[in-house]
Amino acid sequence: MDFVWSPWRYHYIRANADGVLSPGGCVFCHAPAVDDPSSTLVVARESLAYVILNLYPYTSGHLMIVPYAHVSTILELDAETLSEMMMLVQRSQRALDATYAPDGYNIGMNIGKAAGAGIANHVHLHVVPRWAGDANFMSVIGETRVVPEEMAVTYEKLVAAFAAE
Ligand SMILES: [Zn+2]
Repeated sequence: MDFVWSPWRYHYIRANADGVLSPGGCVFCHAPAVDDPSSTLVVARESLAYVILNLYPYTSGHLMIVPYAHVSTILELDAETLSEMMMLVQRSQRALDATYAPDGYNIGMNIGKAAGAGIANHVHLHVVPRWAGDANFMSVIGETRVVPEEMAVTYEKLVAAFAAE
């Protein structure tokens, strides 16, 4: 899958190569521990889970809800963590509604590499805003996605939206 325009991608690849994002090998364990959340794109935190922008979004505003616990399946999460993750789904949908007014959402998990999980050893929940017609010919035929907004802009908008709730 190629991206037509992704100006932040170089910085991410550079930071990852420098070990800034994942010194211990797990981006999702490292991201909430960083002092400057804008560098890891964490947009909201709760006590057991947090919300982070996907660095390779399917659409603008593609969020992930991640427990602090480093576990590979939801079977290993306790009731409090699961409850907080679903509460963060609600907060994410409100923030995205207020910011982008999408037509719909895909909300779900890919458990295991066989199911398409990019980071299979730390479970996470995707919240993907959708618009009628967003799955256009380019992604279907050309193996190419057009991401219409720069990541830093998305980050600033969503931090403000979560804070405004
Ligand atoms: Zn982890």
